[in-house]
Amino acid sequence: MTERPCTFCDRNQFEERLVGETELFWVIATLGQITDGGYVLLVPKRHVLCLRLLDLSEQIEAAELYGFCALRKICLPGNYL
Ligand SMILES: [Zn+2]
Repeated sequence: MTERPCTFCDRNQFEERLVGETELFWVIATLGQITDGGYVLLVPKRHVLCLRLLDLSEQIEAAELYGFCALRKICLPGNYL
């Protein structure tokens, strides 16, 4: 199975919904809401097929970013990074 570029490999595809970024991740507001208050996507900048393929530095940053997002409740409208 070969890797192909996806929507998240092209910043132009989500630029208008980009609400934050770190060294290794994009923070992207979603188009629709499946929960009250909405949610954001934490997307690694490096294309990977699944979370198990994140390297150690990406895993650490993902955990820190997830904790930061949960702590700041950035998923609430108007309360992004
Ligand atoms: Zn990709």
